[in-house]
Amino acid sequence: MKQNNFMEVRFKADSVNESFARVCVASFCLPLNPSLEEISDIKTAVSEAVTNSIVHAYPKGEGIVILRVELDGGDIVISVSDEGVGIKDYKKAREPFYTTKPDEERSGMGFSVMETFMDSVELSSNEGKGLKVVMRKSCRSCALKEGAYAGR
Ligand code: ATP
Ligand code: MG
Repeated sequence: MKQNNFMEVRFKADSVNESFARVCVASFCLPLNPSLEEISDIKTAVSEAVTNSIVHAYPKGEGIVILRVELDGGDIVISVSDEGVGIKDYKKAREPFYTTKPDEERSGMGFSVMETFMDSVELSSNEGKGLKVVMRKSCRSCALKEGAYAGR
C-alpha cells in the first residue's frame, strides 16, 4: 500500500541519542515493508548524519538535532537538521577523507557513506543557520510489491 505520512522529533545533540534516532527511523519506515538491506542502509545513513550534528555542530556547548522522516509513496525522505556552526564549503565537506577532526579518529567518510547508501543526499542551511541534510531513498521492495499487486 502507498504510504503518505511524516514524523518529526527533536532531541539533544548527545551521542546517547544516536541509537534512538536509528531505531526511530527504522520503526517509522516499517509500514513500507522495506527489505532488511534497505532498512540497514537507512539506519547507517541516519547514524552518520546524526553523529555529524552531535560531533561537529555545537563545539561550544549543547544543541538540538531535528529528525524528520516522510513516506512519500514508495520514497523515504529523511532530513537531519541542527542549529549549529554549519558548513561553509559543502563541496569540500563531501569529499572522501575530508575531516576537520583528524585528531579525534574521524575518517572524513560520513558523507560518502550517506551517498553510498541513499539515492540522493542534499546539503543546505537549516533556515539560515546550522546544517540540513536531506536524504532520499526509493524503497524498491515496496515498489515491487506495488507492481505485483497492480498486475493482478
Ligand atoms: P567520519 O564521519 O568519518 O567520522 P567526519 O565526520 O569528519 O568523519 P564527514 O561526516 O564526511 O566526516 O563530514 C566532513 C566534515 O564536514 C566534518 O569533518 C565537519 O567539518 C563537517 N560537518 C559535517 N557535518 C557537520 C555539521 N552538522 N555541522 C558542522 N560541520 C559539519
Ligand atoms: Mg561524520
